[in-house]
Amino acid sequence: MEGKQDPASPAEALSAPYVLAYTYRRSVGPVIGRFLTGLREGRIEGVRTAAGRVLVPPAEYDPETGAAVGDFVEVGAAGVVQSWCWVSEPRAGQPLDRPFAWALVKLDGADTAMVHAVDAPSPAAMRTGMRVCVRWRAERVGSVRDIACFVPDEGSGASEAPPMPPAEPVRGMLSPVHLEFTISPGATLSRFLEGVVEGKLLGRRCPACAKVYVPPKGACPTCGVPFGDEVAVSDTGTVTSFCIVNVPFEGQTMKLPYTYGSVLLDGADIPILHLISGIPADEVRMGLRVRAEWLPAGERRPTLESIRWFAPTGEPDAAYETFSEHQ
Ligand SMILES: [Zn+2]
Repeated sequence: MEGKQDPASPAEALSAPYVLAYTYRRSVGPVIGRFLTGLREGRIEGVRTAAGRVLVPPAEYDPETGAAVGDFVEVGAAGVVQSWCWVSEPRAGQPLDRPFAWALVKLDGADTAMVHAVDAPSPAAMRTGMRVCVRWRAERVGSVRDIACFVPDEGSGASEAPPMPPAEPVRGMLSPVHLEFTISPGATLSRFLEGVVEGKLLGRRCPACAKVYVPPKGACPTCGVPFGDEVAVSDTGTVTSFCIVNVPFEGQTMKLPYTYGSVLLDGADIPILHLISGIPADEVRMGLRVRAEWLPAGERRPTLESIRWFAPTGEPDAAYETFSEHQ
């Protein structure tokens, strides 16, 4: 967490930007797969239900009856706006980088509407009932974005999609997720993080159950009462449980295999989670005594990453009874 004072909060509270971003690889199944394959080839296909309705985009089941759907049906590349809203400030990743409309468009030959962007010069150019047509992307990959957007139909209808070389049917898609937050940890956790910068681990004791929590929260999660005194705990502790990470994943920074463990710091009642290093992964064990390996003082920031990892102290292992109640 980057340490940055938030002027709207008490002086001791921190806040930091936080970005959560990852990409799903999703399989699309035979029905959506055929729809996406059609888009790559410049064609829009829906499916016909037993009652004769044409669903675009297609669904695998009739949403009204749950019955399997029937034949694929090609529909027109132009249609009617059923509803719309105006986006005056497009966000990153949206279909157009200038103001546009999101619209429900019922294509000619379809009985349901699809959501897509309409490239209109202003909200005054939009109305329910207006005709719009597809603007195809020249380079298409088998995605709903192969339709760049819809445009108001001036009477000439949709233009032809430039041809694409033949390719395998679409079976999957990449679905990126990107979330941006501002995190404010609150006064109690801010105090803990400021302690980390000083190389100290500061917990708090519950006045009811006397347990010491590190990192502290605002109140004891068991007793529900606000925490009392600040308690400095040791940067040595005992591994109470661990897992060995062998599976690569996006954004990974550690070399495989590595160990992530619960460390019960001496003086604390609840373990913290951190990396265990300085020992082969297959030698990490419950009861292993470890010490925090701190970054040099000038490099510490208000984050637990200021502890590089926990490494063995060389002491004899702790007896199970000493940590069995603190898992
Ligand atoms: Zn308590």
